[in-house]
Amino acid sequence: MSATILWGKTYAKKLKDETKEKIAEFTEKTGITPGLAVIIVGEDPASQVYVRNKHTTCAEMGINSQVIELVPTISKDELIATIENLNNDSNIHGILLQLPLPKALHKYENELLYRINPLKDVDGFHPVNAGRLSIGEKCMVPCTPLGCIKMLELAGISLDGKNAVIIGRSNIVGKPMANLLLAKNATVTVCHSHTRNLQQIAATADILVAAVGKPNFVTADMIKPGAVVIDVGINRIAPKKITGDVDFTTVKEKAGFITPVPGGVGLLTIAMLMHNTLEAAMLQQTQQNR
Ligand code: NDP
Repeated sequence: MSATILWGKTYAKKLKDETKEKIAEFTEKTGITPGLAVIIVGEDPASQVYVRNKHTTCAEMGINSQVIELVPTISKDELIATIENLNNDSNIHGILLQLPLPKALHKYENELLYRINPLKDVDGFHPVNAGRLSIGEKCMVPCTPLGCIKMLELAGISLDGKNAVIIGRSNIVGKPMANLLLAKNATVTVCHSHTRNLQQIAATADILVAAVGKPNFVTADMIKPGAVVIDVGINRIAPKKITGDVDFTTVKEKAGFITPVPGGVGLLTIAMLMHNTLEAAMLQQTQQNR
């Protein structure tokens, strides 16, 4: 029997509706409108589309959004000054530095990201947030893995005691995903490019998360019958064609649940950014009232 497809659109709508309602309540109660600043450096066409989408979604949700467009020749120090201004702006609760940065700034990427006040770090990339996540404290959680967990929750898939295997150990997907699954009492294995017997390990997974960045990496022989397969991969295989990390056609015949690409967990990322902006505004408001 073919797997149930977990369509991102359905879950993204549900999560956005929920967050929109909470934003309206928060604004009515406190008089504060959550504010998100997105910094974009240079003219990467894909980034410009993402930033436009974020801006439009903010407007729909009741979030004030500010897009700061900077020339690709901007210096590291000027960019730091921009971040510091936003750190000190009480109308801005979330700051996002759109990646990738232009080549000349690549080597400063972490240094720049770490300048964002952890309370405003809606991407959840700051080491303070990564550390808090790993010890199970309240923090800003990276949007993509958070979206995956929310989708599993909404789909009624229990994680307690399940074997979860994640392929990929990046700081923005694999590692936070592992911490989130651990917090839900799953037994977690993280695989990477040095993992031996990856196929056998993957085949033990009740929940398999693919975050590799390689088209068709996960094949049907790596799937336990009935497993939940979450495909985080976004691979451009032609100018207008995107595919995931999972060989969808064959894997869906063996899995119990599967997310498609496009149309899967990717759609939840923006919804989670909205959620995190509200969380950040709430956190900053409670800190101010202390
Ligand atoms: P990275 O390139 O940072 O990490 C890829 C991971 O895959 C690494 O840990 C790497 O291992 C592992 N890997 C690579 N080759 C193999 C292999 N042959 N066997 C086992 N493991 C392997 O990617 P990201 O985590 O940033 O992204 C992963 C995918 O998710 C990409 O396609 C990206 O586009 C997508 N993505 C989607 C998002 C969304 O939906 N909004 C957001 C973020 C990412 P090692 O560490 O050993 O090198």
